[in-house]
Amino acid sequence: MTTINNYVLETIDLCKKYGDLVAVDNLNLKVEEGIVYGLLGPNGAGKTTTILMLLGLTEPTSGQALVNGYDPCRSPLQVKSMVGYLPDNVGFYDEMSGEDNLLYTAALNGVARDEAQRRVKHALKRVGLSHAGHKKVGQYSRGMRQRLGIADVLVKDPKLIIMDEPTLGIDPEGIQELLSFIKDLAKEDGRTILLSSHLLHQIQQVCDKVGILVKGKLIASGTISDLEQQLLSQEEQMELELKAVPWEEKLAGICETIDGVDKISWQNDMLLLECHKDIREDLVRELIASNYCPTHLALRGVSLDSIYLRYFHKEEEYHGKGS
Ligand code: ATP
Repeated sequence: MTTINNYVLETIDLCKKYGDLVAVDNLNLKVEEGIVYGLLGPNGAGKTTTILMLLGLTEPTSGQALVNGYDPCRSPLQVKSMVGYLPDNVGFYDEMSGEDNLLYTAALNGVARDEAQRRVKHALKRVGLSHAGHKKVGQYSRGMRQRLGIADVLVKDPKLIIMDEPTLGIDPEGIQELLSFIKDLAKEDGRTILLSSHLLHQIQQVCDKVGILVKGKLIASGTISDLEQQLLSQEEQMELELKAVPWEEKLAGICETIDGVDKISWQNDMLLLECHKDIREDLVRELIASNYCPTHLALRGVSLDSIYLRYFHKEEEYHGKGS
């Protein structure tokens, strides 16, 4: 069965309970083909449990996971053949060379010997380990093991790659390399990547879409700008930077008349408007009607970090009120 929509990965009201603890709570994820999707959440949010259900390694309590239209519990072999999994700590045989470890993976996945050798050579080259393929894995650094982990995934030639905290324990330079490599896996190869992390900055650099998971619940999902819009539509405070021509004091008077503006201040070469709702459309309309031309209108300080913190704050408030 192939999926009728183009979601490589989908969960429908997916739940996992451990006794009384709800680790994953009615999760509805949709991940399109060829994108990098970041599952972002603090420790204990339910990221690993979600991944285990997608891989068919643990059964949902209720709901369903679908990988390219297949249920990992009902069609484990189909799912296994399409998915490559990079856990946060990749297990290899330390006494065997990197190359032999990869050949072993290929054999386990039923890849014929000649084809396996071709894929292993190519995968080692791709992750920059050609020179170290003959070395025992026990002699590899953490970063090299992680790169070998990616090569191990690539040997399977998967449509979907799931990575759990892939940058853990890697030095900053190695992280940048890995992130750009992850992007290539999607953009150049057309693979879909699901990346779990609690590191906002990294997620922001590499992911096309992001889901924020808190206490098993997906509290926001979409592109960074979708998340921004979701936030703004909830009457959050926002700060807008404005420049316009002619640049004159009367401009502040016009801004003051817009419903939603709380405070206006002159900051160097721009006006800063503090608002309690999104006034951008009204503002531009009013400026043009008053013969001003806006030359700069930008939202200040909306980064994934602030979004993440705000959502966390909300969750705490929500739980605080609920309890
Ligand atoms: P981390 O980043 O710390 O790995 P996570 O977001 O991956 O966190 P999970 O490992 O999925 O979160 O854990 C979600 C919740 O489920 C946590 O409260 C955890 O203690 C609990 N949990 C996970 N596995 C089990 C298990 N096998 N038995 C009981 N509780 C579990």
